Amino acid sequence: MTALQPVRGTRDFIGDDFRRMHHVATTARRISALYGFEEWATPIFEDTRVFSRGLGDTSDVVSKEMYSFEDRGGDSVTLRPEATAGLCRALVSNGLTQTNLPRKIFYTGPMFRYERPQKGRYRQFHQIDIEVMGAAEPLADAEVIACGWHILQDLGIGDGTILEVNTLGDAASRDAYRAALVAYFTAHKESLSQDSLVRLEKNPQRILDSKDEGDRAIVAGAPTIDPYLTPDAAAFYASVEKHLQRFGVPFRRNARIVRGLDYYSHTAFEFVTDRLGAQGTVMGGGRYNGLVEEMGGPPTPCVGWAAGMERLSLLLEDGGLTPPAPRAVAVIPVGDAAEGPALDLMQALRRAGVVAELAYRGNLKRRMERANRIGARAAVILGDEELAAGVAQLRDLDAGTQEKVPLAEVPARLS
Ligand code: ATP
Ligand code: MG
Repeated sequence: MTALQPVRGTRDFIGDDFRRMHHVATTARRISALYGFEEWATPIFEDTRVFSRGLGDTSDVVSKEMYSFEDRGGDSVTLRPEATAGLCRALVSNGLTQTNLPRKIFYTGPMFRYERPQKGRYRQFHQIDIEVMGAAEPLADAEVIACGWHILQDLGIGDGTILEVNTLGDAASRDAYRAALVAYFTAHKESLSQDSLVRLEKNPQRILDSKDEGDRAIVAGAPTIDPYLTPDAAAFYASVEKHLQRFGVPFRRNARIVRGLDYYSHTAFEFVTDRLGAQGTVMGGGRYNGLVEEMGGPPTPCVGWAAGMERLSLLLEDGGLTPPAPRAVAVIPVGDAAEGPALDLMQALRRAGVVAELAYRGNLKRRMERANRIGARAAVILGDEELAAGVAQLRDLDAGTQEKVPLAEVPARLS
């Protein structure tokens, strides 16, 4: 029988791969908690409308990447391609739009997009995500960015990434800018990709985000939003920059950032790296003020980001920052009489917080071999003689030294 393979674009996480992903999630959970974020969990699949309404139908995600299907009951459901729309839906469905705002939410889990698989790009991937819901102040924008920066620094990959920030303005700024973009791109219509011709009709600003080579050349000469910003929008952006400086987060302006999803206004930002080839964005987000309304709630200003855990893990691997596997203590009984006491000792070690293992079978030699194979740091050997004396032989497998230790003292010695 042929061995079955994982579905294209999905992968398994085993050993170091798992440890890196786990380390990213636990670090993000710990640091975001310091900033007052609470963790939520929402379903992996949602009513398709959560995304088709929420993300905008000109986004790449909705137009060509969604895993949508009709379930057996005839409802159209979608494997979530991102977390934000589902979190907004949850805020509304749980009646949380009026009380205790702002809500600060941390999220982590798998996401699904039908993309061309490559390094750092999968069909099932994983994100960490934070959102502040119900805060219109630019300080909230700066705080979510500072939290992201703190996470990258704590992971040890801050130096390899740079924050790029932009403003997409408010509605009035965007209307004026849109007219300028339409005029510019219309003049270059012949050279635009098919996708961008559609964007020109529906959401010309999205052309700035095009990955098509030909489009990129035209985008390079496009006008920036700055001359079209209203005084309010300009003041908002200036305030975000001021707070970022106060938080001590280094950044540079990149007027081309628009973000892949349609729902952003004001602040848009990305943490980028040059270490992952084409998949250079590790964390991206911004302000979105209309999404909760799209889910049937009241106008609710929000800001947040999502980061790809696989890309963060690649940076950990690249930087030699893979967390080491925990090293066990191997408990080794010699002879039948020692089997029971060895089990007791193993449990005493585990209760003392020491990783302990006992091979299910084998003589002293085989069990020592296994201890070495699993990278054990120490072996505790219990034979008839040791039992009679109430001691164990404690062998340090790194130093190669061995000594007798009273049984009762073994857990404390190893913890
Ligand atoms: P890209 O431009 O790389 O396609 P995006 O703009 O579609 O990214 P977002 O929707 O903002 O990405 O998602 C936030 C982050 O999630 C990205 O910065 C990236 O780190 C990660 N990410 C997005 N799509 C994938 C994927 N298919 N595989 C792995 N990670 C992904
Ligand atoms: Mg994408």
